[in-house]
Amino acid sequence: MKRLSIRAKITFWFTAALLLMVLFSYVILLSVSNQILQKTIRDNLIETVENNYNEVRYYPNLDNADQNKDASRFLAFEKGYLEVDSDFLHEVNQVYTALYDEDQTLIYGENPISKVSTELDFADSRIQRIKDGRELYYIFDRKLTGEGLEGLWMRGVVASTQGTSQMNRILQLSLIILPLFFLLASVGGYVVVRHTLKPIREISETAAKIGRENDLKQRIRLGSGKDELHQLADTFNDTFEKLDQAFETQRQFISDASHELRTPMTVIRAQCEAALEQPQTPEAYEKALQVIQRQSGKMSRLINGMLDFTRLEAGTEKYQKEAFNFSAMAASIASDMALIKDKGITLSADIQEGIAFCGNAELLSRLLINLISNAYRYGKENGHILVCLQANEQEILLSVADNGIGIAPEDQEKIFGRFYQADPSRAGEGIGLGLAIAAEIVQFHGGSIRVESMPGKGSTFYVMFPSDPSQDFKKP
Ligand code: ADP
Repeated sequence: MKRLSIRAKITFWFTAALLLMVLFSYVILLSVSNQILQKTIRDNLIETVENNYNEVRYYPNLDNADQNKDASRFLAFEKGYLEVDSDFLHEVNQVYTALYDEDQTLIYGENPISKVSTELDFADSRIQRIKDGRELYYIFDRKLTGEGLEGLWMRGVVASTQGTSQMNRILQLSLIILPLFFLLASVGGYVVVRHTLKPIREISETAAKIGRENDLKQRIRLGSGKDELHQLADTFNDTFEKLDQAFETQRQFISDASHELRTPMTVIRAQCEAALEQPQTPEAYEKALQVIQRQSGKMSRLINGMLDFTRLEAGTEKYQKEAFNFSAMAASIASDMALIKDKGITLSADIQEGIAFCGNAELLSRLLINLISNAYRYGKENGHILVCLQANEQEILLSVADNGIGIAPEDQEKIFGRFYQADPSRAGEGIGLGLAIAAEIVQFHGGSIRVESMPGKGSTFYVMFPSDPSQDFKKP
């Protein structure tokens, strides 16, 4: 059974269940109809005997009897006569009725079996059974009452198989029709199952093709439909689409990363080659080493940034979320970073107290540090940075504003992408991954990030998180 195809299994079970069902109903039908038939035969027997019961009369002499009565028979009995009316039917539908005296001597009527008169005692108003050869008979007796009728018995006999020939015919017919019907249902079932399971073949062939040709652009095409298999195909197609996008992103990332690494590598190699080509002055060597140190520093930052980014994006590291005091964390970072003495920029903070949040404190610190670092990096001489954290019942809003160089409108969307730098010459130690990492952190916490900026005037980065109602949020 394990080796059979689903198609064969379903057909097999369907056919077996059908066969059992048909056989079961057939047996029930036969036994019920047989019971009904037997009861009808017995009822018929009683009715026929009862009908004949009143058709026998006794006359001491024939003076009072109407001898001209049509077809009535007069039989000499004891000292008088018995009149058997013409309504006495000794055979109706193979039910035989006969008149007997006390010694079981047949007086009038017909008896289909010899045993009846020799072996079976009379029993008034009761059905008895007797076997003659292979046939079973029902017997019904009535003791006659009335003047002169004492000692007379009326006996009805009918074979239990009477009327069964019709049933046998139905039985024979059904023995031909049922297997035919069964065959038809099995073949029909097989065809339907085959047709229904056809999409599975299409699904597995597409999946196999993807595996064989390494082509995630393949899609399962089942045509229109809304059944479970179409839903399954849609789910597969969605998964293929997501996998394709993920691979595409990965390919792009590798290509971007190698591109980014190539520049410092080329500079380092050029510096080494130039220094080794001919003896240099100590100052020239020192200068070359400084360039190499700067570029290798950039490479190391790039590699670390890329690692951070891929870990976050792929979710390979499990970052726990737990409730922490967001206000305290933001205030501490703001006060630490306010100590940076860069271009005379000052930093102030407007932080609402007691904001609790369920998230990863380490990642959220990194987010805030990235935003403040950028505000310093792209800030103006003697500029200012403002860090704000506010919350209401619906959301927590974190913002970092500067009055620095600003961002051109066409760059404002792109800066959240990997390695994008609006003006690399001003990026200093920046590697173009800070905002991409920030966006991943925000997404990890179910929030959103956006920027409002005017070139030459400054930029404000807004980060919004949905408030967690389970956290103890203190209103200001
Ligand atoms: P980088 O390491 O280059 O700073 P980021 O991903 O942090 O990389 O930022 C991407 C680019 O967005 C930066 O190169 C810069 O052009 C722009 N940018 C980010 N923050 C600011 C800001 N506060 N003011 C002006 N430009 C900014």
